[in-house]
Amino acid sequence: MGAIRLEKVKKTFGTLDVIPGVDLDINDGEFVVFVGPSGCGKSTLLRLIAGLEDVTDGKIMIDGIDVANEAPAKRGLSMVFQSYALYPHMTVFNNIAFGLKMAGESKEVINEKVQSAAKILNLTDYLERRPGALSGGQRQRVAIGRAIVRNPAAFLFDEPLSNLDAALRVNMRLEITGLHQDLKTTMIYVTHDQVEAMTMADKIVVLQAGRVEQVGKPMDLYSKPANKFVAGFIGSPK
Ligand code: ADP
Ligand code: MG
Repeated sequence: MGAIRLEKVKKTFGTLDVIPGVDLDINDGEFVVFVGPSGCGKSTLLRLIAGLEDVTDGKIMIDGIDVANEAPAKRGLSMVFQSYALYPHMTVFNNIAFGLKMAGESKEVINEKVQSAAKILNLTDYLERRPGALSGGQRQRVAIGRAIVRNPAAFLFDEPLSNLDAALRVNMRLEITGLHQDLKTTMIYVTHDQVEAMTMADKIVVLQAGRVEQVGKPMDLYSKPANKFVAGFIGSPK
């Protein structure tokens, strides 16, 4: 399960009111893209859901339970970062296995889960390499593998492709949406790239200055933008 509901979620940093109050419903299994210009609060909103930042006010419901005061590890979500955050001294196997080892899983379970994730991600032949000996796309897949083995209620991606070159970005987009079709797990994907949003999302959430401007299917935002900001940002015809 992975239904996520935000109720009046607020975040201030000192006097800076970054998220004045967001309400949002994400259905189990949906691929939701948060899109908006740099600095609009996309990462902050994702980090609030992940528990990497504390909410100033409001509720974060996961499958009906408010987790706003729960530690990140208790929320059952996996975050995939832009910078991969891989351990350079560890093999691919151990990078993917790291969270499972920390959780005290048995060797057999770890091996089975890592092998299964490696198969999904085409990393089977690379398990003994270190991240330095991988391509950018392979490193990104290792980061995703680390998330997969934890069998999360939802995957949270923060601009995972922005360090990759254009051609690879298109490939990885297809890989991630393919992964979503296979796993059918809720995914929240943050990007400032309209094309990524339009091509990947079941549902797009357009943000500006910490506010939700519109929520809808890509084609609905395109054909019926709620306002000039959405029209301009999505590139709808005038
Ligand atoms: P985005 O991911 O959409 O580019 P962010 O969520 O990173 O935007 O940032 C939204 C706003 O919050 C920006 O003005 C940013 O400077 C501010 N901000 C983010 N994190 C912090 C922090 N830890 N302390 C103070 N301000 C922050
Ligand atoms: Mg960001």
